[in-house]
Amino acid sequence: MSTNTRPVRVRFAPSPTGYLHVGGARTAIYNYFYAKAMGGTFYLRIEDTDRKRYNEAALHDLTRDMKWLGLQWDEGPEVGGDLGPYHQSERLDIYAREVQKLLESGHAYYCFCTEERLEEVRKVQESSGQAVTGYDRQCRDLPLADALARLAAGEKAVVRFKVPLEGVTRFEDQIRGPIEYQNALLDDLVILKRDKYPTYHLASVVDDHYMQTSHVLRGDEWISSTPKHVLLYSAFGWEPPVFCHLPVILAAGGGKLSKRKGAASVGDFRDLGYLPEALVNFLALLGWNPGDDREVMTLEEMIGCFSLDRISPKAAAFDEKKLEWMNGQHIHHKDSNWLADYMRQDLGTVLEGSGIDVDAIPQAKLIFICNLLKTRIHFLKELAESSKYFFIAPTSYDEKAKAKAFGTGSRAITQAVRSQLAGLSLFDHKRIEQGFMDVCTQLDLKLGNLVHPIRLAVSGVAAGPGLFELLEAVGQGEVLRRLDAALPLME
Ligand code: GLU
Repeated sequence: MSTNTRPVRVRFAPSPTGYLHVGGARTAIYNYFYAKAMGGTFYLRIEDTDRKRYNEAALHDLTRDMKWLGLQWDEGPEVGGDLGPYHQSERLDIYAREVQKLLESGHAYYCFCTEERLEEVRKVQESSGQAVTGYDRQCRDLPLADALARLAAGEKAVVRFKVPLEGVTRFEDQIRGPIEYQNALLDDLVILKRDKYPTYHLASVVDDHYMQTSHVLRGDEWISSTPKHVLLYSAFGWEPPVFCHLPVILAAGGGKLSKRKGAASVGDFRDLGYLPEALVNFLALLGWNPGDDREVMTLEEMIGCFSLDRISPKAAAFDEKKLEWMNGQHIHHKDSNWLADYMRQDLGTVLEGSGIDVDAIPQAKLIFICNLLKTRIHFLKELAESSKYFFIAPTSYDEKAKAKAFGTGSRAITQAVRSQLAGLSLFDHKRIEQGFMDVCTQLDLKLGNLVHPIRLAVSGVAAGPGLFELLEAVGQGEVLRRLDAALPLME
């Protein structure tokens, strides 16, 4: 395995061209975890050299999404740092200087070929049945002095890197082991474009070097770029970082994850009501495991046991059902006071027009309800949605449940329970439960016979949290009123 002894400095280096995809978020998560686990530095670098695809709004959304996920960078936009600037568009003079070095050392050359000519070359290669090897290296041996004269005369050129014509480029991937590429199959890649902006390859290598990147953790779609980078490092005489290419994330039914197949961006999942800690936990497990069978983990727990050797090279499948379950688990572990605040905000809409002053509902009551509901839901919005009956009497009853729950004998049962509950001087779930038990004994019935009519009468629905707690939350007077309202519908 490749190792290096440099202090750990890792980066997330997105191109702000669109939304933050969950694949990108997972890359950011692993870099962040690794930095934190190793006491290193996590920096954010904005790869904005593709001016055609640059999107200002995407940059804004990106930093917002990273913060929402809890992945605060130590250096980068907004926070600064000693090795900036952290936007590649502000580093053009650095790339120009480095390209100059490669030109002078004979590792790079000016290429004057036009788009039309390159297109022609491609067509000829295709039609002759040759493998498409890309650029035919027409300008590779132009003497530098001649090239400079043509530039001085106003011609435009890109700069290309001279890839060795023979031999093999090898590197060790920390996750996949040794990888090698035949140099003959690599193109003489452009490193500086006509607009004087560097290409991704050049900028990435120069920045990873000057920003002292110790490990590059990125998606496996970049593997084929890595030999080019390794050659650039060697032309510069620099030590490359350790490379770790992360496994691809596939849609549940196979194939690439995409908007078409459902949510794919961090923003989509936030809008659907996922908690950031659930999304981070879920994404972290797409390709990594903690070494035991734990699944639901906090950020701190994951960082505490994060290591590169438990990242698998195998593709991981994005199972949204599991994410839903994970979200439920994280809601379950959320602080009840926080949940109550969240629920109060949503209750405004749910109880609109009811005349109930949501601000006046005691926090303790909301906490009590949240504790009842939080083990039963997958999304936060369900807190308010499924709690309506705690505040408003049902105006109708589940038709299917009604046939049975309000059937023969239910009226007598409900009357017995009602008088038992009316007699309680303290209305808490323990005493309520005892009251139900007493009625069971009196009427020689099972608890189930009592629970169904009472639950339906009080809540209007057939399923919900523990009935005794539910009744406690609704309150004695209101429970009695609701039983009275339902009695005439019972047999
Ligand atoms: N800007 C590249 C991206 O958008 C970064 C690739 C890398 O990490 O080297 O993913």
